[in-house]
Amino acid sequence: MGPQGAGKGTQAARLADRLGVPAISTGDIFRANIKGGTDLGRLAQEYTAQGELVPDSVTNDMVRDRLAQADAAEGFILDGYPRNAAQVTELDEILAALGTRLDAVVELTAERDELLARLRNRAQVEGRDDDTEEAIARRLDIYAEQTAPLTTAYGERGLLVRVDGIGEIDEITARLTDALAPALG
Ligand code: ADP
Repeated sequence: MGPQGAGKGTQAARLADRLGVPAISTGDIFRANIKGGTDLGRLAQEYTAQGELVPDSVTNDMVRDRLAQADAAEGFILDGYPRNAAQVTELDEILAALGTRLDAVVELTAERDELLARLRNRAQVEGRDDDTEEAIARRLDIYAEQTAPLTTAYGERGLLVRVDGIGEIDEITARLTDALAPALG
């Protein structure tokens, strides 16, 4: 978990490489569907472009299907899910049905000014259509209102690992790997 621009996608990909498990990003799956012009993509586009969450029913089904695929059987990293309390409940059910559980929940932290600077830069480099000023502000607000409080719940379960997302990419990967070592045994 972590606000937009904290570096979740970058660090998730690196960690996945090291652990030999897939990094599953709900945002990437939506973007691939949008690009491919699928029904799911057309629906997702209406929400992502505005910075709104895609409806839970759609997102939950998509995650359930993805986690049931063979490459996730030995482990996975989720990036961008769960983002609200209902998705936490759903994820618990999905994992129980698969007979698995979370080893850890990482929260990558960064200040809003740094996030805005990174996202403005990303907007120029990548040209994502949800990196407009309005959609960025909306996503950060939704993160603060709906997603950030979830870390409390995971903290109470003893799963939360908080990592400072400010610094060089390699340095943050090292911090992350160190912080996760106890949880990953
Ligand atoms: P960011 O973290 O910059 O918002 P993501 O790639 O994680 O980028 O997500 C892009 C968009 O995809 C979100 O703004 C939202 O519309 C949609 N999305 C991603 N994950 C979820 C989710 N768990 N629930 C609902 N919508 C989601």
